[in-house]
Amino acid sequence: LSNRLQGIFSGLRSKGRLTEEDINAAMREIRMALLEADVNFKVVKAFVARTKERCLEADVLDSLTPAQNVIKIVLDELTELLGRSDAKLELGNRIPAVIMLVGLQGSGKTTAAAKLAYRLKQQNHSPLLVAADVYRPAAADQLQTLGGEIGVKVYRHDGADPVDIAREGVQEAIDSLRDVVIIDTAGRLHVDEAMMEEARAIKEALQPEEILMVVDAMTGQDVVNVVSAFAEAVDFDGVIMSKMDGDARGGGALSVREVTGKPIKFISSGEKPDSLEEFHPDRMAKRILGMGDMVSLIENAVRLQQEQEEAEEAEAMAAGNLTLDDFITMNRQIRKMGGISKFISALPGGDKALGSGQVDEGALDAMEVIINSMTKEERARPEVLNGSRRSRIARGAGVSVTEVNQLIKKFNETKKMVKKMTAGMEQQMGRKGKK
Ligand code: GDP
Ligand code: MG
Repeated sequence: LSNRLQGIFSGLRSKGRLTEEDINAAMREIRMALLEADVNFKVVKAFVARTKERCLEADVLDSLTPAQNVIKIVLDELTELLGRSDAKLELGNRIPAVIMLVGLQGSGKTTAAAKLAYRLKQQNHSPLLVAADVYRPAAADQLQTLGGEIGVKVYRHDGADPVDIAREGVQEAIDSLRDVVIIDTAGRLHVDEAMMEEARAIKEALQPEEILMVVDAMTGQDVVNVVSAFAEAVDFDGVIMSKMDGDARGGGALSVREVTGKPIKFISSGEKPDSLEEFHPDRMAKRILGMGDMVSLIENAVRLQQEQEEAEEAEAMAAGNLTLDDFITMNRQIRKMGGISKFISALPGGDKALGSGQVDEGALDAMEVIINSMTKEERARPEVLNGSRRSRIARGAGVSVTEVNQLIKKFNETKKMVKKMTAGMEQQMGRKGKK
């Protein structure tokens, strides 16, 4: 009942309370948007549950701008999911520091290795690139070409064992006074034991400061299996999401963090050497929220739901269903909104109805006392209030029968007014609908 009225008032104020249904409608939109962005469905489920719980807290529902609050919570939870704070490259104190890249074939390791080298060079490091992918003859050539473009030396030893190449690379860095070694390793098209074994062997031999897994942002649902397998086998420190310039909608990024707990450190978005950026969870969250225009989806979901409820409430009111319980709730609402005159003037046509007369707000308390002395039936069906009932109520409330009569008169006037206004509102809505 009080929900019913609150529905109307929120409509009249064009802001106000949200119901659980409103939130559910918004959450449905969010769920769809995330699934369309290829976020793993388990991740979506957990995310929506957490977000919904926060949205249902009373202060969110009752606030003046609930849709904005819902959006803020979604943004907040997205940021949390992506890692809250920025994760930086950790090079430690050892010289040379060793960075090792792992990942599936074609994920973008070799490209990322060169970009990382370029970035470090910009920061006054002197990196050495090491070609430890021995299975594809062209791999070392590719790295050498990229190294040439950015002016970074590449160490290669065709035909040797990957662990040996990595060791030799570190020695080469020591000999040539370089402070960072970036090891580009081999990948396979699918997760397999031999690839993991080789990565583990290089890890054992070199104890890298940073093991970064390169993840193709367009991997889709399979990303969960891929990163889990690597997390278990090599326990990497962070992720480089590559190919973010493609049609990637951020789904992979959202899943990675939730599934492995490992931070995303960089995003790579292009083939140019300078297209590697640090990853900022908050910016990414905004980007995801902007995608498919999720903000307006949420707003629309909330608004449509409210409009529907308002229409239903207006209908019930127009049918003359106002009870004395509604009347109490209305009075309380009016007080919350800061007085009856303000309330009436805010209604369509309310200015005219109010005229210049002010309403005594102390009378609102007195009304409530009287209504509280009525039985349930009397409140629901005021027309049964005959003379003997009225004098019983007067005695119970400690007021005169005249005062009870005045209250009932006022109630009947309000009922008429509400009827008129809701009819007016319906007309307006009808006009809007036809456009
Ligand atoms: P690897 O097998 O893991 O070493 O992957 P590569 O570095 O050889 O990259 C595979 C393909 O993806 C190459 O054609 C790259 O040019 C391309 N690539 C890598 N990173 C990006 C990126 O961030 N954006 C785009 N558009 N293409 C990329
Ligand atoms: Mg490669």
